Amino acid sequence: MSDRLVVATPDADATQSFGERLGALLRAGDLLVLTGGLGAGKTTMTQGIARGLDVRGPITSPTFVVARVHPPLGDGPELVHVDAYRLHGSAELDDLDLDAELDDAVTIVEWGAGLAESLNEEYLTVTLSGDDERRIELVGTGPRWDAVLDALR
Ligand code: ADP
Ligand code: MG
Repeated sequence: MSDRLVVATPDADATQSFGERLGALLRAGDLLVLTGGLGAGKTTMTQGIARGLDVRGPITSPTFVVARVHPPLGDGPELVHVDAYRLHGSAELDDLDLDAELDDAVTIVEWGAGLAESLNEEYLTVTLSGDDERRIELVGTGPRWDAVLDALR
């Protein structure tokens, strides 16, 4: 049992497929903090997660709207997709009132490192890097993530 997993994905489809596997394991209350530079694949991975969660699309980068809610198509939770790129500090994040949805949704925050962790005691940090092939590192904080990462191995 470990709270860390690293995978390599050769192309965008592979990143989406991995995201889909992860998405199928998620449940209401889960918080994911996505890290990596512009074009690293955060939104691409979220598109896969949304497929695994079975929520209404399309998933596009919510850079300008900051947050978007994707309702479930089945019995699962909704997806709250946040892009914190334009936010300056935790006060602006607080203004989004994500707390209100947190328990009933899967919440994904792009550019959330150093900001979104305060939303929940338990969260999964997903870090994407690499130029062509992507390296995706998953680090879980809290016991919730042990079983999820084990299932992805
Ligand atoms: P971000 O949200 O991190 O800014 P995007 O997901 O919007 O990044 O963009 C990633 C871009 O990189 C997409 O155009 C995607 O097709 C491309 N890409 C190429 N290889 C990969 C890969 N292995 N994983 C994810 N995206 C990839
Ligand atoms: Mg993005």
